[in-house]
Order: sequence, then C-alpha cells, then structure tokens
Amino acid sequence: MTAQILVVDDIPANVKLLEAKLTSEYYDVITARDGFEAITQAKAHKPDIILLDVMMPGMDGFETCRKIKEDPEISHIPVVMVTALSEKADRLKGLDCGADDFLTKPINDMALFARVKSLIRIKMLLDELRLRDKTSLQMGIQSDTQMVSDVSGARVLLVDDDTVQGKQIVAKLGEEKYTVEWLEESTDALQKATAGDFDAVLISTTLGDADGLRLASQIKSQEETRNVPLLVLVDEDDTRLMYKSLELGINDYLTMPIDRNEMTARVRTQIRRKRYQEALRSNYQQSISMALTDGLTGLYNRHYLNTHLTNMVQESLKNNKPLALMIMDMDHFKQVNDTYGHDAGDMVLKQLSFIIINVVRSTDLAARFGGEEFVILMPETDAQAAMTTANRVREQVEGTAFKINAQGQSINKTISIGVATLNPGDTGEDLLKRADTMLYEAKNGGRNQVKLAA
Ligand code: GH3
Ligand code: MG
Ligand code: MG
Repeated sequence: MTAQILVVDDIPANVKLLEAKLTSEYYDVITARDGFEAITQAKAHKPDIILLDVMMPGMDGFETCRKIKEDPEISHIPVVMVTALSEKADRLKGLDCGADDFLTKPINDMALFARVKSLIRIKMLLDELRLRDKTSLQMGIQSDTQMVSDVSGARVLLVDDDTVQGKQIVAKLGEEKYTVEWLEESTDALQKATAGDFDAVLISTTLGDADGLRLASQIKSQEETRNVPLLVLVDEDDTRLMYKSLELGINDYLTMPIDRNEMTARVRTQIRRKRYQEALRSNYQQSISMALTDGLTGLYNRHYLNTHLTNMVQESLKNNKPLALMIMDMDHFKQVNDTYGHDAGDMVLKQLSFIIINVVRSTDLAARFGGEEFVILMPETDAQAAMTTANRVREQVEGTAFKINAQGQSINKTISIGVATLNPGDTGEDLLKRADTMLYEAKNGGRNQVKLAA
C-alpha cells in the first residue's frame, strides 16, 4: 500500500530526517517549508497525509491546520501535528484546530509508521466514497457532500470497570451533550455494541474480567459494527499496546490517567469522521436508487460506468496505481431467447448478475454495459489479479445450472471475457476498447475463455 505524504517543517534537517524514514518504507514524500507552501502543496498534490510541524515562523502549525480544515478541497486529508513539546495544552490546541493526530519529537519510528498506516487505511475508504460522490455530482443527481462538524446527539458506549475514571468520563462526555452508556462489566459489551447503534465505543485495556483489546478487535471485525469508531484506554507507560491497537485497526487510543479535554477532542474527531462517512454513504445509496442502475439486474448502467470510469482512470494515473477492467459477454445468448423465450433470457441475465456481484470486492464497480454484456472495473488491481477474478467468473458461469422457468428447468451457459489494464496516457475509452478487442478474440478463439490485452 503506497501513499503520498506531505512533510512540513521550517528546519531542513527535520524534513530530511522524516523524508528518509518514510522513503525507506516506500512512501512517496513531498515537502514544504512553511504553512503557506504546505497549503499550496496540499491543493496541488492532494497527499494522503500531512505531517505538520507546530512551531514555524510566520503561520504556525495550528493556524495552518485550521486553514486546511476550513478548505473543502483539502479538509478531508488527515493532519498529524508534530510537536517538540509533549505539552498537553499544545495537543489540545491542535485537536481544536481539527488535527487528526499527534507525534512528539524526537519521532519514534514505530509510532510514526503505526499512525501513518492507520490513517492511510481510513483515507483509502474515504477516497473511494468521495470519488463515487463526485461521479454522482457530475451526473447532476446530488449536491456536494461536505465534511460535517455537527456531532450533537452522539451516542457513546463506555466499557470500563474503574468506577472513579468511568464516572469522570461519563460526566465530561455528558457536558458535551453526548449520551453515554457505561458498562462496568464486559460480559454484554459485544452484544450491546452490536445492538446499540453507537457513534463511538471506548474500551479500557485494563479490565479485570476481560482482554479489552480483544473485545475491541471483535467489535471491529463484525460487519454491523465495523464502521463504529473505537478508542481504547491504555496505561500511559504501555507504548507497545498503543501501537498494537493501531495495528489492529482501532481508531485511536487515550492514555490513562485520562486528560478529559483531550478525550473530548479525540472523541469529537472520530465522530465527525464517522458522520462524514455516513453522509457520503447515504448520498451514494440515494444516487444508486436514482437512474444510475439497470432495472433488470440492479447493477450500474452504462451511463454511470462511463462517468465513473473517466474519474477512476484519472485518479489511478495521478496516483500511479494499477486499474483493471474486464468486459464479458454470454456465449450464444440469442439461442436462449430463441429456444426458451425472452423471459427465460431475462432470468439467465439476472442469475449472471448474482454471480458477478458475489465475485467483486467492495471497491470494484460492476455495470451492465449492454444487453448481455457486463463490465467490472477493478481499482488497484494488476493484470494477474484481474485474470484470477475473470477466470473465477468464467468457471462459476460454467458450473451454474441457470434456471429458465418457474418449474425449475435449467440450462448450462458459458461466457467469454476480455481483460485489460491501464497504461500511461490512457483514457477510459482506450481501456474499454482494449478489453473489448480481447473479448472479440476470446469469441474467435472458441468462446468460454479469458483473454488479456498484451
Ligand atoms: P456470441 O456473443 O457468443 O457471439 O453470441 P450471442 O448469441 O450472445 O450474440 P449477440 O451478442 O449478437 O446476441 C445478444 C442477444 O442478447 C441479442 C438480444 O436479443 C439479446 N438480449 C439483449 N438484451 C436482452 C435482455 O435484456 N433480455 C433478453 N432476454 N435478451 C436480451
Ligand atoms: Mg453481445
Ligand atoms: Mg453474446
């Protein structure tokens, strides 16, 4: 997983040091010497993360962060403040400016990479959702989704058996107008988290009756609670546990003894991000139900595919990431209509779309391209992985008994597939055309096969 990181510091030696560390882990690094340059660079390159020094002449890190977070073009980029002081006040000020995280100088490598990795993971998901948002926007069917700052009425679950600390947390979050449900035992925690529709979950890692981190990762791995921000409470000396929790995909940690202001700021950051994701997701869902999909199969239609393809090609080329496309066409489909009737043909197409939906990943995009032609667009996928997927579809079609009437009569069908991957300078049309040529070759080669563009 490669990503671009913008390093901002007024002292060249600091920039060099961070650049060297990040480059050694194969991150792509760009730099800026002050806040103004940072904003220019952020707008020009849209990096995946910004590492921002706090103390800089002119415009300091706080001011820069605030400007970034106020600019809709770049406000979604995670900002990590790098501070020489481990001053609590500084951290708070940063969080108030909308910073997503902190690192203290001298920078510990483990902390650096754990933070970077965990933020990139979140960023990738947001990017995909934002791209779909943009496609819908271009198609004129919704308004631009903005990062939301309203966190009122949020629901928080707290799992902590420390009575004194628990009371303090409940009181402080209550002041922020959150509704807090506090469990002093962990027994029902998983079930509560699943059923409770929470905006954030806080779990102590020093529970007497359970392993808090295990409980947290169970919540993270469940379908229903996967998108709920999780924060763990960790002893301030237990750095190992802090990194481990980030590695596991826990969203953030709070060190004990708890600083109540820092806690509210971090919880607020998490809830804001969750609400933004939800807004993107729900707009996306709405847009699906509006004219973008094909009535028979429920897949995206050709119009949507074309718009999204253009965006996806631009993004992939800009970020130097692979992109694969496959186009498939059922073999001798006309015979189905001719022999069993048009309704039977429709049934077969529906069943084919189920096969396709089951094979694609959540970031892939499946569309009905024409009558019995389908396209799958696969971001961050190279030729080999695309061929594996294509062959899986082909084999599943071959192994399926397609029902053609209510009496349960069925027939066997095969499919031909053309696969192409993105080359530098390609347009979406080029990519589609190359795949289509390969589909034609697969047909000529005897059907029921996959052909890859050289
Ligand atoms: P091959 O692709 O292997 O060359 O042969 P084919 O028989 O599949 O050839 P062709 O692509 O020319 O035929 C496609 C047929 O699909 C023609 C059209 O009547 C039928 N078709 C297109 N859309 C629909 C649909 O929505 N429902 C049904 N039942 N049939 C459709
Ligand atoms: Mg056809
Ligand atoms: Mg056909």
